[in-house]
Amino acid sequence: KNLVHAVIDGPLVIIGLGSIGRGVLPLIERHIRLTDRDSFIVIEPSDEFAHILKRHGIRHLRKALTPENYEATLRSLFPTKKSDAGGGGVGGENGMIVNVSVNVDSVAVMSLAQKLGVLYVDTVIEPWPGVYFGSKLSNAERSNYALRENMREAGRKYRGGTTAVSGCGANPGMISWLMKEALLRLARDTGVDLSSSNPVTREDWARLAMTLGVKGVHVAERDTQVSSRPKPPGVFVNTWSVDGLLCEGYQPAELGWGTHERRLPRTGHRHVFGPGHGIWMDRPGGDTRVRSWVPGVGPQLGLLITHNESLSIADYYTVREEEVGTTSPNGGGGRVVYRLTCHYAYHPCNDCILSLYETNGSGVLPVKKHILTAEEIVSGNDDLGVLLYGHARGAMWYGSRLSIDETRRLVPYQNATGLQVTSAILAAMVWAIENPRVGFVEADEMDHVRCLQIQRPYLGSVECHYTDWTPLRDRINSFSEEEDRDESDPWQFTNFLTR
Ligand code: NAD
Repeated sequence: KNLVHAVIDGPLVIIGLGSIGRGVLPLIERHIRLTDRDSFIVIEPSDEFAHILKRHGIRHLRKALTPENYEATLRSLFPTKKSDAGGGGVGGENGMIVNVSVNVDSVAVMSLAQKLGVLYVDTVIEPWPGVYFGSKLSNAERSNYALRENMREAGRKYRGGTTAVSGCGANPGMISWLMKEALLRLARDTGVDLSSSNPVTREDWARLAMTLGVKGVHVAERDTQVSSRPKPPGVFVNTWSVDGLLCEGYQPAELGWGTHERRLPRTGHRHVFGPGHGIWMDRPGGDTRVRSWVPGVGPQLGLLITHNESLSIADYYTVREEEVGTTSPNGGGGRVVYRLTCHYAYHPCNDCILSLYETNGSGVLPVKKHILTAEEIVSGNDDLGVLLYGHARGAMWYGSRLSIDETRRLVPYQNATGLQVTSAILAAMVWAIENPRVGFVEADEMDHVRCLQIQRPYLGSVECHYTDWTPLRDRINSFSEEEDRDESDPWQFTNFLTR
């Protein structure tokens, strides 16, 4: 249980001591050996939780990183690097940056990590302030598609550089590893023989999804955690970063766009730049609902909040056929013959649903914010998985069902939502140490077997559920004008979307 998975021989710098930063500390202490514990530092502008650092003997640099100070600040924390720029040492000997803050630009810090030769892990592609709110950028430019294309473009400069894991929490992150387990399970359950063709490369995995006839995947989540105290009016309550949720909730709704889709939703737009695997909708994800399905509850409405994995998974599970006369050195060319649709269908905790209702009603961002702690929560689960649909068995949910009670037994300072994230960060840190020279990388591109091996003790029950549910199935009375139904194929995106 307390297995040491890896060693870091240089400084470990955590940026941000929010709900995730606090939660990851005990996992690091349990599973990663730091030979230079004096250079374990947390950069965090607030001192609200400084007592936790004191209790663990971890240094606190009380500072907000900005475009002006981040480079000098981080450089000063890695003074003893052993190799030249760009040459991260095996076993994390040059140290590591784990960025779990808001408002600190991921690509800026990832690029600096390349120059310093240190490993890097984050859970989301975060920009400096000014992109999410009050921006002059168009909605298309504020999309996660744009943020991710920017990250991928920056990463092309650093192929083979020090490993920098982008977007590796629960989702984005773990969900991409569960996706692969789910595909293998579906292959087994539908009699697809993989004995001579076990998927290895990206192309293999994409072809497997195509062979299985998977039309799409929801990242289908239900958070049933409840507090003993009713939510006070005017306070935005969530089980993880309120700021993070507000940022993504007021980006445009967004999804990876499959080849089986016949019609854009009414407010849907294609991108005019980049490879074009996603679409965005001219409305906020935090006020856009889709029909979905999770175990325990069954059919539910989820929020179509944009997420990195909606794009990365659709991009990863794309099959291209080479056209005569084209060259495609890295699988980037050729006609797209298959892609699955991918999007989030998120039912956050009830207090968060109510908070969003209030915020959408007021039209003003909340001032008072609160993240529910493990001590306040009296019951509930975070059930987070992939819902693969459109294949021979209809729909299948595969994922982690983690209760607050089990979370409390396993580890301090976090609720069930947090533990699914922090255990994925732990897995990403270990994987980065074991694979120190792959440059910028996303969860889809990492070894899901190894990562889940590290993470699984913290995921509660990992379950597979088949269902005959479709988004056309149940309605209370019929209001045809309210829907954009396609009866000929239940798995069209427009059937999931509610107006
Ligand atoms: P949080 O809001 O609880 O904490 C964020 C912390 O960042 C705060 O303590 C804040 O003071 C600090 N911070 C703000 N500005 C800073 C700056 N300029 N420099 C340094 N620190 C700064 O958030 P959280 O719940 O801990 O989440 C942290 C990050 O992880 C967020 O970006 C969130 O979106 C992301 N996240 C990802 C997943 C996933 O599954 N991939 C899940 C949860 C959270």
